[in-house]
Parts: sequence; structure tokens; C-alpha cells
Amino acid sequence: MTKQSLNTGRLLRFTRNDRVPNRLLTPASSRVSRDARVRNDSYGNPPQMSPSHYPSYLSLLYSGELEKRVEASKKYLSSCTVCPRNCRANRLDNQKGVCLAGRDVRVSSYNVHYGEEPPISGTRGSGTIFFTGCSLKCRFCQNYPISQLNHGNNYSTKQLAGMMIELQSLGAHNINLVTPTHFVPHIIEAVYLASQRGLAIPLVYNTSGYDSINMLRLLDGIIDIYLPDIKYASDENAFKYSTVRDYVTVNRQALVEMHRQAGRLVLDSDGIAVQGMIVRHLILPEDIAQTGASMAFIAERLSADTYISLMNQYFPANNAHKFKELSRRIRNDEYDYAIQCLQKNGLENGWIQE
Ligand code: SF4
Repeated sequence: MTKQSLNTGRLLRFTRNDRVPNRLLTPASSRVSRDARVRNDSYGNPPQMSPSHYPSYLSLLYSGELEKRVEASKKYLSSCTVCPRNCRANRLDNQKGVCLAGRDVRVSSYNVHYGEEPPISGTRGSGTIFFTGCSLKCRFCQNYPISQLNHGNNYSTKQLAGMMIELQSLGAHNINLVTPTHFVPHIIEAVYLASQRGLAIPLVYNTSGYDSINMLRLLDGIIDIYLPDIKYASDENAFKYSTVRDYVTVNRQALVEMHRQAGRLVLDSDGIAVQGMIVRHLILPEDIAQTGASMAFIAERLSADTYISLMNQYFPANNAHKFKELSRRIRNDEYDYAIQCLQKNGLENGWIQE
């Protein structure tokens, strides 16, 4: 399907089925080569160039810091506070918390995936690892067999590292960690092991956005690209539809921290993401997601040049049929309203779905 530029300027349309980006996101003058690397915590400034680009976790490996992070993160498992649910399950003893995770990392599948945003999928695909379980319990979750029914298999961190190496050998542009929140300690250890075996492509942290600040700080310098959701602007709605009472506060703190670490999106000379942040927002019926308030937060607290991925793919799944307001797809006027929210807040970078 053809992508089209909108009147909003650089906001482009894409579909999840597009394999090859046929439009570049930014003018050539603002693109950078694969050699570019920047820790950009200033808003709107062009990326700086550095002589060599490689994922920042390699710097941590060589300095010995990555090994320290492995040990530091494991401590959170004995009385689990890996995510903001703070269940305090002893996961080292295989007790399970709300997310259904115990001692071992659990993965539903891994493959080279072409349906992500253009700079994530690129031409060779994104090396996607789908983790099982989730700390949210979204009533409408489209992946509920994986996230809520725990379909998957247990693996060691050594095996997880092997998946990363295999995906890299298949040519993937990056390692895309989907629903990673409850397995951060396992992921850090796997990256530590894989990087010693030659892993050298960027890591994408593809999250619901319900992430603890402590875990995010342990990921500082490990994750290259953050791909978080902003699901709600109302804790009342977050509790009713995703069963967490503090999503908005937690999510907004997490987005600020992710943006501090990764900054604005940086692309290489082929238009592939090497660093930065893309925020995803799923439009829900009846404006349950309160799109306007979320876009205002992004523009005001992160940056108006933040890349947004606006998703209109909602359909009633899981237990959505139990809620009348969730029992239908979004209407055209709701989709148009969400786009207006982007325009109203000066958000011009990113993608919408046709
Ligand atoms: S990661 Fe799982 S067990 Fe740990 S606090 Fe969160 S929901 Fe509970």
C-alpha cells in the first residue's frame, strides 16, 4: 500500500504490512550515517556525528559495567520489584507474580519481522523476540494467548543470547524485545553473554510503557531504541481496562527517562534507526485512550519532534466484548480526531496507519 505524506508535513502513512519503507522520514540533510552516535538529551538539536557507531552496550561490556548490571538487576528478583506492580514474589524460587513470570525467561517465538515501523523493520527486518506474560492485563489485548495465557516455553539466558545471535546472523537490523518489562534481568544477562559472542546490532525495547525507573536506569546505555506505548491519560481508564491503578504516573515518568537516555530518533544513511525513541499510541473507541491529553504530554514534556506511531488497528479481542464501549473498531471520525490531536500539538514526525 502506498504511503502518503500528510498536510502535517513529515507525518507519513504506513501499514503494518509494508516491508520496505518507500519514503524517508526526514530530509536528507538531517539524516546521519551508520557511523553517527549521539546521547541526545537536548530537544530538537541535530544529532552529532562521532567517528564510529556501535551499540552502546559494547562500551559497557568493555568497561566491565555490563557485568555489574547483570548482578545488580538479579537482586530485584528475590522479592520482585522488576516492574511497578511490586508483587515481591521470590522469582529466584520460581514464585510467580501478576505477570506470570517465574525464575526462567519465557519466550513465545522469535523471528525476523517486517511489520514494525519503517526504520525498525528496514529492508532486512527486525529480529523480534516475543516474551510471554505481561504485567498489564489489558481487557482488549490482541496477544492475550501469549500475554495472559502464558503460551510459550522456558529458556535459559544462554539460550536467549543464542536467539539474539541467530537473529543477527539472519541479517536483522536490530534485536526487538517485545513485552520485555518483567524479564529485564534476564535480558541484561543475555545481552552480556551475546555481546561476548559477537552481538553488535542495536537493541529495541518494545514495551507497554509500564516500566519501573529502577529497571530503566539499569538499562541506560544498554538499550539503543525505546519503543514504548502511551496507552492512557487517565488512571481510572487504565485500571478499568488494563488493571493497573498508576499507569499514567508510571508511564509518564518512564517516557521522560527513556527520552533522557535515548533522545530523538537517529537514522543511518539507509533510514534505519540506530538510536532514539518512537512512542506508540493505540486509538481506542470513545476516546478511552484520551489521545489529545497524551499527545499534549509528549509535546510539552518530551519534545514536539518526538516520533509518534499512531495505530488505528484496534479490534475487540480477549474480553473486550464484555465492555460495550470496547466492542467495536474505531470510526473514521475518531481516527480523524486523533490525527487532529497530533496536528494541534505540533507533532509532525512519525507514522499513521491506513
Ligand atoms: S515483574 Fe512480575 S512478579 Fe515482578 S513485580 Fe512485576 S508483575 Fe510482579
